[in-house]
Amino acid sequence: MRRYILPLLSVVLVGTGAGLLLSPSSDPVLLTQTQVATNQPVTTLISQPTTNQSPTYAPPTQLNISVKPGDSLSAIFQSHGLDAAQSYQLLQTEHGALLNKLQPGQEIEIRYTQRDNHVHQLILRSGDATETHFSFQDNGCHSKQIALAVESNKDYREVSISRSLQQDAQAAGLSAATIQTISQILASEIDFALDLRTGDHLAVLLNRHTRNGKTVSSPTIEALAFFNNGRYFEAFRFEGESNTYYLTADGLSLQRRFLRAPLDYRRVSSRFNPNRLHPIFKTQRPHNGIDYAAPEGIPVLAAGSGRISFIGEQKGYGNVVIVDHGQSYSTLYAHLSGFAAGLQAGDDVSQGDEIAYVGQTGWATGPHLHYEFRIHGQHKNPSTVTIPYDAPLSKQELMTFLQQVAGIKRDFTSRFSTQLKSKINR
Ligand SMILES: [Zn+2]
Repeated sequence: MRRYILPLLSVVLVGTGAGLLLSPSSDPVLLTQTQVATNQPVTTLISQPTTNQSPTYAPPTQLNISVKPGDSLSAIFQSHGLDAAQSYQLLQTEHGALLNKLQPGQEIEIRYTQRDNHVHQLILRSGDATETHFSFQDNGCHSKQIALAVESNKDYREVSISRSLQQDAQAAGLSAATIQTISQILASEIDFALDLRTGDHLAVLLNRHTRNGKTVSSPTIEALAFFNNGRYFEAFRFEGESNTYYLTADGLSLQRRFLRAPLDYRRVSSRFNPNRLHPIFKTQRPHNGIDYAAPEGIPVLAAGSGRISFIGEQKGYGNVVIVDHGQSYSTLYAHLSGFAAGLQAGDDVSQGDEIAYVGQTGWATGPHLHYEFRIHGQHKNPSTVTIPYDAPLSKQELMTFLQQVAGIKRDFTSRFSTQLKSKINR
């Protein structure tokens, strides 16, 4: 028969001043759970069955508890021999707040001194790449986080676009978060609302991080390639001294000064027809921008960083925002239903900031965003205007990157399917 040794000392438990360490509202619960714990000690999973068959009491040196729904911190502490003073000290440590946010599935290991069966260490494991150690010493309790060894596995995927990036990439096993990152990396190159074509092709090399077979963090994108309507882009991840970049094989930034489309491509429903008759004037008029048909209220993003030079109403445009990006670049967003709360002329905005919401104010027959791109006051086609590449790396970083990227690129491209290769070489 298996015998489990419990470090329960009911005499100590019932007598502790538990109210010292918990918020007042938990006091009644605590008392009940203390009683439950003393009557039915096996409320938590207790490993370490003893093999010691001698009748003398041998204190265990460690217990593993897996947190289950409904478990409370106080009950766990109380039923495993932590007194009120120790519990209080634990919660006061640098990482003590983690103990107050216990989640089912987390594991707690409690270590006891062999001599007097006192708790001397508690380890919290959350299933990610770190564990937190709480250690009792003469001068109190101290906590620290320890990084665990993580296994990294490469995972290569290809996606042939037939419906949308979202749908096709998800069907190929990519998570929504990964798809979002891919679209952000390519946001200066590809307008995912207007540019995608059937037959476009994505290749991505992921690094998946696991520990004991369990995922510990979302995968990183090591390299990606996108074949889009006759154009071809590659991006490689590089961890620089202070930033992580996605760069061309030459070390140039893919995150350029302007987004191709200043809204969330997933919400844009129809394509722009540049030859359409003006819906109100019924004649063809010069059209100085791109119209994105999109549901009323979806966020409009600053295409690039800059300063708000105008925010308000203009004839025809309705509610409009103009952003001055410096060096003679400016962008204009029209027919808006409203503006981001508190935004005023003179405010600085960063690329991707929400500045306004799609609407149909001014001369518009349905909700859409009218978007203009100007250089020296002259209108340019936002979807074809050349935006200079940034070279963000220091000379030292660039040398490191160029050394690394050669091998990564060889590994990446060696995985390409013949289908993708034939598209690139066509
Ligand atoms: Zn327009």
